[in-house]
Amino acid sequence: MNILLHQCCGPCSIYPVITMQAQGHNITTYFFNHNIHPVQEYYKRMEGAVLVSRHYNIKCIVEDYYGLVEFLRQNVYHENERCKYCYERRLLKTAEKAKELRMDAFSSSLLYSKMQNHEVIKETAEKAAKKYNIPFYYYDFREGWQNGIDISKELEIYRQNYCGCIYSEEDRFLSQLSKKYAKKYEEINEYYESIK
Ligand code: SF4
Repeated sequence: MNILLHQCCGPCSIYPVITMQAQGHNITTYFFNHNIHPVQEYYKRMEGAVLVSRHYNIKCIVEDYYGLVEFLRQNVYHENERCKYCYERRLLKTAEKAKELRMDAFSSSLLYSKMQNHEVIKETAEKAAKKYNIPFYYYDFREGWQNGIDISKELEIYRQNYCGCIYSEEDRFLSQLSKKYAKKYEEINEYYESIK
C-alpha cells in the first residue's frame, strides 16, 4: 500500500518506517506539527525528521507551519485538555493530505511513543479516517521502543527531552530548575553572609 506516515519527529518515526517497509509498504512521510515550540526546537525536530526520511530513502513532505499562536488560542482556559486537540489537528490534517495525494492509507509515528495516550491517538485517527473516507493503518509500534531509541542514537538524530508544546516544557523542567536555582541562591547568600 502507499501510506502517508505522519512524522511527529525523527526518532519516533524510525521504527514505524522500518516496520512498514519490511511489510512491503511504500511510505511517504509528512511533517506537520504545530505543537512544537519554541521556534528553534521546532526546526531542530523538523531537521531530524527529514534526516530519518532521507536515511531510509523516503519521500518527505514538510508542511512548514509554526503554530504557536493558533495552539495557544485553541487551548486557553482548558490547557489540561490540550493533548486531544493536539492529536486531532495533526491527524485530521494528515488524513486530508493522504486523501489529496490519493494514498491508500495514512498512519502516524505517534503510535510509537510510550509517552503518548495511545488509545486516544487510535480513536482520533479512526475518526479522521471516517471524515476523509480514507483507511487508517493501525499498528502498535510501541513494541519497537528500544530499537527506535538505539537506531536514533546510532544515526545521531536530535532527541528531544520534552513532548513539544510550551506547557509540556514547563511540566518537564519548571520544578526541577526551580529547586536547582533555589539551592544556588541559598549557597550564594550563605557565602556573602559568611564574608560579611
Ligand atoms: S503535551 Fe504533547 S501531545 Fe500534549 S498538547 Fe503538548 S505537545 Fe501535544
